[in-house]
Amino acid sequence: MNTKETNKSMQNNSSALVLHSGGQDSTTCLFWALRQFKEVRTLCITYGQRHSLEVEVARKIATGAGVPFQLLNAGVISHLAENALTCPKMIMDEDKPADSYPNTFVPGRNLLFLTFAAVIARSYGIRHLVMGVSQADYSGYPDCRDTFIHSANVTLNLAMDEQFVIHTPLMWLTKAETWALADELGVFDIVRNETLTCYNGILADGCGNCPSCKLRKAGLDEYLAAKQRRQKTEQG
Ligand code: ZN
Repeated sequence: MNTKETNKSMQNNSSALVLHSGGQDSTTCLFWALRQFKEVRTLCITYGQRHSLEVEVARKIATGAGVPFQLLNAGVISHLAENALTCPKMIMDEDKPADSYPNTFVPGRNLLFLTFAAVIARSYGIRHLVMGVSQADYSGYPDCRDTFIHSANVTLNLAMDEQFVIHTPLMWLTKAETWALADELGVFDIVRNETLTCYNGILADGCGNCPSCKLRKAGLDEYLAAKQRRQKTEQG
């Protein structure tokens, strides 16, 4: 390895690009990345989803964390196929239908997101990408699975002749464990009060009724109950 290459790899190893939507998961990933890497940038991708408030939430969190915020408009995604996140007229599935995915599934989204992120990261000399997907306790979206992420990683490396590394710190965590991670990182309050996960566009604890709020609340209740039990044991 010559000096130029050494410098390049050193530089690349110290910085990461986080795909950040302003939700609980990607915000937890942002603070995870700040622990792992010297320099972190965020990329917020819009695609005509229902709530543009997401962008402002993501911008505020990134600014608060002192990291550069970049916005990419990928509105073309909403023109490709109908789904409940981009079509205001569609009523969202509350549960996963037995033989298909909920209509909140946006086909191809994470593949496109990773491709956009990799191209942008490359332009900054960044090879580490961080994404808040998890296959442990969600709706079973295929592009949140570990196998897909590995496959996308290989494809991106082949497509650009690069050595990207996609990090998915939440891949095997339940929602309760994701809350635990936020707490461990010292950002429990930020994640609880400043993120937007609700499909109805309500900040923090949200509307309480949409599938996303239900999942978030169930995990939070489970985590807080476990924490309380632990504290009682420690005191007693
Ligand atoms: Zn909600």
